[in-house]
Amino acid sequence: MEEMAKLKEVNERAHDWIIQIQLKHWCVHAFDTHVKSEHTTNNITESFNSWVDKYRGYPTLMLLESLRRKMMKRMYKRLEDARKWSSNLPPLVAKKLAKSQDESRFVTVLCASDTEYRVKEDIKYFIANLITRSCDCVLWEVSGIPYKHAMAVITAKRLSAEDYIDAYLTKAAYLKTFICHSFDSISITVA
Ligand SMILES: [Zn+2]
Repeated sequence: MEEMAKLKEVNERAHDWIIQIQLKHWCVHAFDTHVKSEHTTNNITESFNSWVDKYRGYPTLMLLESLRRKMMKRMYKRLEDARKWSSNLPPLVAKKLAKSQDESRFVTVLCASDTEYRVKEDIKYFIANLITRSCDCVLWEVSGIPYKHAMAVITAKRLSAEDYIDAYLTKAAYLKTFICHSFDSISITVA
């Protein structure tokens, strides 16, 4: 709420607009840490609308069958593409990890115990815990990828950053998602 007080000083109308939205909709600390994604928008509805495009006017069963085929094609393509990855991490995860590693150069690991590490960034301190895979900033728990504070510890301890990526975000999990799905057809002919 300290930051909100600062915002109020700068722009009271912006403060009043934000404060009327429930905290769980915009605060990182209120994100569900089980999902391992720090990016939450409803863009998917727009993408879906454009993706189904010409099928939208179809009767229900034809629409479903068309979507089933489209989905099957898409999922198989994803599987084939993923099989070609040389890394154990999907490209997007590897990119985020590299960004985190880059940003970790600007924070300092001050002291260490076997489990918890105190990390300094500018004038703020964060506690990162490699056992519980958590950090005061909450971004590791939410995203599943060590954020710069934990990354600084991982680098200082000469550990492998890949070992601290959540299992949901690995190539193995990606392949598992697309490898085994049943695509039972319904009996209908689509033009
Ligand atoms: Zn952190």
